[in-house]
Order: sequence, then C-alpha cells, then structure tokens
Amino acid sequence: MSTTSDKSESISEEPTELPDEQRETLLAMVEDIAGEDVKEVTIALLNAHGETTDEEIEAQLGVKLNQVRKALYKLYDTQLVSVRREKDKETGYFIYYWKIHPDRIKRILRQKRELVLEKLESRLQYEKENMFFHCGNEQCQRVTFNIAFENDFICEHCGGKLEHVDNSKIIRVLEARIAEIKNMLG
Ligand SMILES: [Zn+2]
Repeated sequence: MSTTSDKSESISEEPTELPDEQRETLLAMVEDIAGEDVKEVTIALLNAHGETTDEEIEAQLGVKLNQVRKALYKLYDTQLVSVRREKDKETGYFIYYWKIHPDRIKRILRQKRELVLEKLESRLQYEKENMFFHCGNEQCQRVTFNIAFENDFICEHCGGKLEHVDNSKIIRVLEARIAEIKNMLG
C-alpha cells in the first residue's frame, strides 16, 4: 500500500458533499465494485466530509477496527478512497487519514465494465472458434474437438461416449450480455 500524501490532489477534487439521490447511486455503485460489506464504512466516509481516521469510523459505527480497516483497504484498492499518513508527535505512531472521492466512481465503474467486457468477448471468441463435445454426464466437463479426437471420443472422466454439443445458446447469452455492457458504456 502506498503511503504517499495525495493532499495536493484532493484539494483540486470535488467536495464529498452529495445530494441524497446521488448518494444512493454512489452506494449502489460502491456495492457493485467492492461488495456489500463496505457500505457502512462508505457512508461513514461520506459523513466525514473530508478526512477521517479508522478509529473515528470505528467509534461512529461501533464495529471492530479490523473490519473497518478491511473495508478501507478494499475501497483503497478500487481507488475510490485515498489515504495520507502523519506521525503522531506524542506517541510516534502513524495516523492514517482516509478520504473518499465520489467523483472517481464513474471512472472506476467504467474500468470495471470494460474489464468484464474484455473477458466476455474472449469467451465468445472461444465459443465461436471451437466445437464442443460432452458425454452427457453432469459431473463431466465439456471438451473441445481436439481433446475429444485425441481420446477417440471417449470421456476421460467417466468413459462415456462424447457427442457434439450445440453451444449456440451460450453464444446468444454472451452476445446479449456484451451488447448490454456496450450499451452501458455508451
Ligand atoms: Zn464423462
């Protein structure tokens, strides 16, 4: 984890004050990106209207410090949250100051969707470029033509006969999902 200060960066960014409607959208997006368990910490960060420490969040939420830190690291990983550290002159320990950047959410969500799109497109290509064979046994995997051919069309796992399987339905589902994401990306 980087501990460099990004104070100069945060000054130029939008304040964390958000209208209720945008707040709900943001929380839904955060949940989509980082999971449901970061929601409470995200709310606490928004309520802080600037920098806050993990101890302050712990006190506000009444949850374990470990849980707060886990959520903060998760949010930090998505780049939605930044951190700055300062040495406490009395104790000598570092204090970490966390800050949420709601204006970054759209870019992060877009990056995530682009990644999903990339994976779906390569899966679609794989489905289109291959012929698949299966023994009919639910516990066994589909295999490509090359593998089926090498094994004389006998399933390696159960010894059943490998038959050609139609993957056009998978292709249609993938194409629909790809179109949906492309539409969201605009
Ligand atoms: Zn089998």
